[in-house]
This record gives sequence, C-alpha cells and structure tokens, in this order.
Amino acid sequence: MTVSRRSFLRDSAQFTLAAPLLGAAAPLLAAPPPAGIDYSLITKPFVGRKVSAKDITQQDIGGLTLFAGSGCNVVALPGPDGALLVDGGNAVNAALLLKAVHGKLGTRRIHTLVNTHWHPDQTGLNEAAGKDGAMIFAHEVTRLTVGRKMRSPLFDGTIAPLPENARPTKTTYDQGTLEFNGESVQYRHLPGAHTDGDLYVYFPKRNVLVAGGPVASDRWPVIDYLNGGFMHGFVRSYDILAELVKPDTIVVPANGPLMTGADVVKMKDLYWQLFRQFFVLFNKGLGPRDVAEFNAGKEFKGVVPIVADRPLIGHPVLKQLGDPSQFLEFAYRSTQLATLPF
Ligand SMILES: [Zn+2]
Repeated sequence: MTVSRRSFLRDSAQFTLAAPLLGAAAPLLAAPPPAGIDYSLITKPFVGRKVSAKDITQQDIGGLTLFAGSGCNVVALPGPDGALLVDGGNAVNAALLLKAVHGKLGTRRIHTLVNTHWHPDQTGLNEAAGKDGAMIFAHEVTRLTVGRKMRSPLFDGTIAPLPENARPTKTTYDQGTLEFNGESVQYRHLPGAHTDGDLYVYFPKRNVLVAGGPVASDRWPVIDYLNGGFMHGFVRSYDILAELVKPDTIVVPANGPLMTGADVVKMKDLYWQLFRQFFVLFNKGLGPRDVAEFNAGKEFKGVVPIVADRPLIGHPVLKQLGDPSQFLEFAYRSTQLATLPF
C-alpha cells in the first residue's frame, strides 16, 4: 500500500465524481454516481432471505411484542381496530409475519405501520398494510425513496419502487407524537444516521425505544453512505438517543437481541472515538480500506507515522458485532463524501 495523495484519491469514493468534473465539457448532472461501484452491472432485483414460520420468534417487552426473524426486528402493539407495528421485515416473509402477529395479538388487520427507514428489510410489510387501509407513517424522505427504483451498497441488486398503496400515507420531517389506543407514541428524526430518513419510535409508558437502523446488536449498523447516511449524522443521532434513554430503557435494535439504554451510551462513546480518529487518518491520506486495517492493528511503517487511538483493539464489542471492516469503510467513505470539497 502506498499512501499518497494520488492513491488516496484513487481509493476514495470521490474520485469517480471528481474526474468528470475536472473536464471542462462535463456537466454536473452527467457525472456518474459518487462511488466505486459499477451499478450498470447490477440488474437483478433484491430478494430478502425467505424464512419459515419457526424462524419468526416472539418476545414480550413491557406489553409490546417483538417479532424477530422476518428480516428485521418488528415491534407490535394491539388496539381495538388492529395492530400498530414498527417496521415489517422482508416482503418475502410478509404473510408469515402477519400470521404470527395476528395470532399473538388477536388482531385482524394492521391499523398503523411505522417505517423507521426505507430499506427493503424494513418496508416489506407495507403492501399488506396498504391493502388493510393502514396509516403508514415515515419520514418524508422515506416516502419519496420507496417511490422510485433504488440501489444501496448494503443490498445486492436493485430495489423496485413500492406500489402506490404501499407507500407512507403520513410523514414527518422532525418529531412528534402518535396517539394509539390511548397511548402516546413518540417519534423523532435521526439526521443522516443510517439513511437520510431515519426515525426512532419511543413508547414512554413502557420505557421501550425502537431505535431503527443506526442500532444493531448482532452486527455493525453499517451506514448507507449513498443514501444520505454519514458519520457526522450517525454520531449526532447517538447523542440524541443517549439523551433520550435511561440506563434501564429497553432498546430494540434494527436486528439482534435487545439492548439497554446503558449499552447505547457506551456505543455512542465508541463511535465518537472512531469519528475523531477518522480525521487524524484523513489528514494522513488513508483510504477506507486502510482505516479498517489500521483499526485491526496494521502499522503503516515507512509510509507515514500515525498517532491515533485505536479503540477497537481488544474491545469486547468485536465478539458481539463481528468484523467491523465494512462499518469502518462505509463510515469513513461517508466522512470523505461530507468533507472533501468536490
Ligand atoms: Zn437499514
């Protein structure tokens, strides 16, 4: 590996965008997508992993029910006119999930569905909810995004637009409260964290926070840097979450076992450490893969002396979340995209 300004640019996500802009005749709108991925080679549609009924598990949390296994964690609450659900898993598992939800809750339809963000493993139940005439609630960006063909570095293939009746029917840009069956359910935008349309959902009466895409407990919550997620927003969003929770708040991550408010605060501190480290590495000209290697212990001897903390070395979270390379690469790419002036 040779670290130079040239190789840094070649490795960076910006190079594909920067090159045509340097040519006087290239108009801005003709520039290719700002990433090192050739999307023209990707033609197959995204299909989530199909599971069987026994793979969908149920867990009571403060009177709510958590359904896991259909593609993401789904939180449900019954009401007299149907169920309130937060997120919905993959479309390929929608029928199985619905059967499990109505079987457990004694409901017959979806009354309200909240999308914490637009990714297909969250919005796979939207079509069923739309058929039920449910109110589908999301950030406005999520509504706009599910209305068009999308690509994301987090998913293979292309993601088709949702049909008209599967798109959010009520949206927010900021924060507020939904009233459901006499209970206040709070929501708030997490700015540019995992995507550019993330919401958390908080049930104050039950001290339960559904944290959405920025939080996962069985994998790293990889940032969708091509769809508005970036490390600056990610750490800001962790500040927002950390201010909201109490140490004993039950936190439902997008995937994986339940966490606590105390866990979220710990992760916030770790992400802030990494964010500060990124700027040291940025100034040394390291690329995204170099950053992953640096955090795995690689020394860049003979290239450039690097003095920066490596908080992940020996950190117990590695056992829980696994290899952080993709998280680090995407988080660092997002930092480059937000920082380089081209
Ligand atoms: Zn996601």
